[in-house]
Amino acid sequence: MLAAVTRSPGAMVIEDVPDSGPARAGNVIVRPEAVGICGSDFHLYSGDVAALSGARDFYPRIQGHEVSAVVTDPGNAGAVTAGDRIAIWPLLPCGRCYPCRAGRANACVSFRLIGVHLDGGLQERLEVPASAVFGVGDLDPDCTAFIEPASVVVHALARGRLRAGEQVVVFGAGPIGLAAVLAAVRAGARVLSVDPLASRRDLAKRLGAELVAWAPEAELLESVRDWTRGEGPPIVVETSGEAGVLPQAMEMVSAAGRVVVVGMSSGTAALRPGAFPEKEIDVIGSSCATAEDFRNAIRLVSAHRASLTALFSHHFPLARAAEAFEFAMSRPPDAIKIVVTVN
Ligand SMILES: [Zn+2]
Ligand SMILES: [Zn+2]
Repeated sequence: MLAAVTRSPGAMVIEDVPDSGPARAGNVIVRPEAVGICGSDFHLYSGDVAALSGARDFYPRIQGHEVSAVVTDPGNAGAVTAGDRIAIWPLLPCGRCYPCRAGRANACVSFRLIGVHLDGGLQERLEVPASAVFGVGDLDPDCTAFIEPASVVVHALARGRLRAGEQVVVFGAGPIGLAAVLAAVRAGARVLSVDPLASRRDLAKRLGAELVAWAPEAELLESVRDWTRGEGPPIVVETSGEAGVLPQAMEMVSAAGRVVVVGMSSGTAALRPGAFPEKEIDVIGSSCATAEDFRNAIRLVSAHRASLTALFSHHFPLARAAEAFEFAMSRPPDAIKIVVTVN
C-alpha cells in the first residue's frame, strides 16, 4: 500500500509500505479518503520540531491529522462497523500530567497526535485506537476531514463561554477563523471577521459574519467600538497567529470580556498589564479539543456541509502529497483548505 512518508525535513516521498495484517486488540483499521493540510503540519514537514510538543523521534513519519476514512477492519472494540465513514480525533493524552489529572487532557503536556507523533492519514491503510474513531454517517470526505479543525473551534468558543446574542470579533479568516465564524453564528452570536484578504472576508460573509473588516489598528478599534455601541465585544477570538493581535484584542474587548487565543504564534508582543484589573478581562488559551467538542464538531459540520464546501479550495492526489505541502506552504492567496485525496 502507498504512503507519503516524510523521511526528513522537506523530503516527503511516496513509498510502498507493507500491510501489517489485522487490527490489534483495541484498534481499528481504516482506509483514509481525504486528509486536510493544516498550518501545524508545516512544522514537522519543514523540520521546525521545536514547535512540537515532546522531544521524540519525528522521522520518518506519515503525516495527516485531519482525516476522513472508511472502516475496513473494526477490530474487537465494537465502536464501529466495516464500511462506516469516520473522522479521527487525533489526540492521545498521557493520562498522568496535571492537565490530564484535572480532566483537561486536551492540554496534556506530553500528548501524542496521530499524524505528528504517530503515523497519520497520508497512506492507504491506517491503524488507530478505537477511541480515536467517530462515525459521521453520510457526511462527505472533505467535510469529514474538516471535523478536526472544527473541533478546535468548538473548544475555543466553549473556553470563551460564548452566549447567544453576544458580539464576537474573530481575527483571521483562514480555515480555523472561518469555522469560528460559522460556529459562533450557529450559537446565536453576531460576528465581525477581520482578515487582510478580501477573498477570505467574502467567505466569512457567506458563512454568516454580520460585518467584515480590515484596517489599521486605530481605525479597526474605532469601527469595532461603533459596532458595539462603545462597549467593545464580550468575546474576541484570535486565530491569525499574529502576535500583535493580542494587545489589540485586549484593548478592544469589553470590560468583563474574554479574549480566546487559538492561533499559534512564535512571536512576542508587549501587553499593557493594567488592562487586566481595569476591565477584569480573561485572556484564555485554547488547545486542541475534547471528545465532547469533537462530537459537537460533527454536528456543526454536518449541519453546514453545503456552505463549508466553499472552503475546500484545492485537491491533490496522494501521489502528489509533497507538491500539496509545498503549495500550501507558499500560502497562495486563493487557497483556504488544501485536501489530499488518498483513495
Ligand atoms: Zn490541523
Ligand atoms: Zn497528560
